Amino acid sequence: MRIVATVAALRQALTDARLAGKRIGLVPTMGYLHDGHLELVRASRAQCDVTVLSIFVNPTQFGANEDLSTYPRDLERDEQMCRDAGVSILFAPNVQEIYPACFDTYVVPGELARPLCGAHRPGHFRGVATVVCKLFNMVQPDVAFFGQKDFQQGAVVRRMTLDLNLPIEVVMVPTVREPDGLAMSSRNRYLGEDERRRALAISRGLSAALDAFRGGERDAGRLVALAREHVESIGQIQYLDLVDCDTLNPVVGLVHRPAALCVAAYVGSTRLIDNVILTPPDP
Ligand code: AMP
Repeated sequence: MRIVATVAALRQALTDARLAGKRIGLVPTMGYLHDGHLELVRASRAQCDVTVLSIFVNPTQFGANEDLSTYPRDLERDEQMCRDAGVSILFAPNVQEIYPACFDTYVVPGELARPLCGAHRPGHFRGVATVVCKLFNMVQPDVAFFGQKDFQQGAVVRRMTLDLNLPIEVVMVPTVREPDGLAMSSRNRYLGEDERRRALAISRGLSAALDAFRGGERDAGRLVALAREHVESIGQIQYLDLVDCDTLNPVVGLVHRPAALCVAAYVGSTRLIDNVILTPPDP
């Protein structure tokens, strides 16, 4: 595995692969890796010859009162996990490499960035779209892999690649969960023992709604209420919405098309997000 910290070294490391016509996969992350990230690596290795994993805690996607300074970091451990997982190139730049002093150009997503996390984290998806666009230009991958856990992020990134004619396929990989159902997240390490137990209400609520949906329930209000009964026990739901998978508009009435039941909730001071996709069977 090559470890590079600059765009020049990254491009150099990719030259031979590109000349040889190898298929290049990119897995963008903020590090503190877990099995959810490694699932993206596995997906990339299954589809690509070369897998680039980037680790960059992107300051522009954090709000002023968010956890940028305390975001968990452990580059040594991440390096070993990348080696073991068969990553070809680990790209771990510092902030100046990505945002030099005079940096002044951003990618601003539109409607898809408005609801859900976008409504509660102003500027978040502008930061995400900007850094992902930059990573796409630095790596120029054939395919990029994102997790379904950040469903809105995947939707925003997919829209951006289409709107900006970036010749990159965006693949969304299903959420990897702990054995008890909690979606894996670097932020889970913030949770104390009691919070970790209470956090389970999120996945329980989503899975109760998914079970009801599979059992034939199609009423959006009832599906949301079912999930809410569980998630409410945590105390602080930021949002719990059933949205159309393509437009992210709220589903009103019956679920006819694929929809995402998305939640953001605070467990103590830790904000967690999760979702399930409800896909009606073909008529
Ligand atoms: P992060 O490091 O949290 O920014 O995540 C980097 C990538 O890993 C994003 O595409 C996430 O959606 C994805 N990811 C994070 N957690 C999971 C998970 N539990 N299962 C699958 N993908 C995940």
